[in-house]
Amino acid sequence: MNFRQKIAQFMYGRNGYDAYSQFLLLAAIVLVVLSMLFTWLPPLAVLFQLGEYAVLIYCIWRVLSRNVYKRQQENARYYEKRQAFFRWCRGVRDRWQQRKEYRFFRCPSCHALLRVPRGKGRLQLTCRKCGNRFERKT
Ligand SMILES: [Zn+2]
Repeated sequence: MNFRQKIAQFMYGRNGYDAYSQFLLLAAIVLVVLSMLFTWLPPLAVLFQLGEYAVLIYCIWRVLSRNVYKRQQENARYYEKRQAFFRWCRGVRDRWQQRKEYRFFRCPSCHALLRVPRGKGRLQLTCRKCGNRFERKT
């Protein structure tokens, strides 16, 4: 049996390297860089180093885990959070691009985002989501 086959046999029935593990590895690398940047402040550098070990151990443990079902659920949750983060980034970008034509307000009761054309004076706004009415200068 060659080395590849041995590895394949060892990894059989284990979770393996998934997207969440990839993210954890990246986080560990960021912590390595941070701990190197903060060598002038030993307590913080040590903290980053401990975090780096913890994240790395957790990552390796996930890759080798035999509870594949649970690890897949974690991976799915990670994907959801990543999607939400990208959506949020797109929202920030869109608001920035439209900032000259529109103003954006949060509904005080349900926190939904409202988009209103600029320069219309004081307006009575109605939230589309919950119907709450409030006044804002546009
Ligand atoms: Zn609302």
